[in-house]
Amino acid sequence: MKPVIALVGRPNVGKSTLFNRLTKSRDAIVADFAGLTRDRHYGDGRLGDREFIVIDTGGFEPDSSTGIVKEMAKQTKQAVAEADAVIFVVDIRLGLSAHDSDIARYLRSVNKRVHLAVNKAEGMSESPLMNEFHELGMGDPHPISSAHGQGIRSLLDAVLEPF
Ligand code: GDP
Ligand code: MG
Repeated sequence: MKPVIALVGRPNVGKSTLFNRLTKSRDAIVADFAGLTRDRHYGDGRLGDREFIVIDTGGFEPDSSTGIVKEMAKQTKQAVAEADAVIFVVDIRLGLSAHDSDIARYLRSVNKRVHLAVNKAEGMSESPLMNEFHELGMGDPHPISSAHGQGIRSLLDAVLEPF
């Protein structure tokens, strides 16, 4: 069985860009609009001879209770339930937000392996801004740039290591 990896995080952090990078596809819609990818979206990924399945998700608004946003949270929770591992994506340029902390709390409540990816970190992997993400209590943050393909292999090595 291929391991299933869910990409989770608030809108606009770069989940779909990471999905495209991992699956080498243009399938997920990458947009400058927050939360455009509203459905779960599956793709095949490969690292060397290791294969895996990636699930892209829309946004995640765990405390919201209406309409599309609630549907997005539901889709994301279903993706997490299906996954063997989660990549929790945050954005170094926006910094840590209360929303990220809400997602971290949710992810701690489910019994899944979670890896924290700090995206948009091109040229910033040594930045002191990385440190604040330790507060999420999700272990060492992995600096990545989904757009530029940096840090992806090291992240995937960690994610796929148990499988
Ligand atoms: P999603 O809502 O989490 O799926 O985010 P998207 O993948 O749609 O990306 C949101 C925005 O962030 C787009 O404008 C992307 O081009 C941009 N973006 C994604 N990854 C990176 C990155 O590694 N570096 C930078 N600078 N921008 C990125
Ligand atoms: Mg998206």
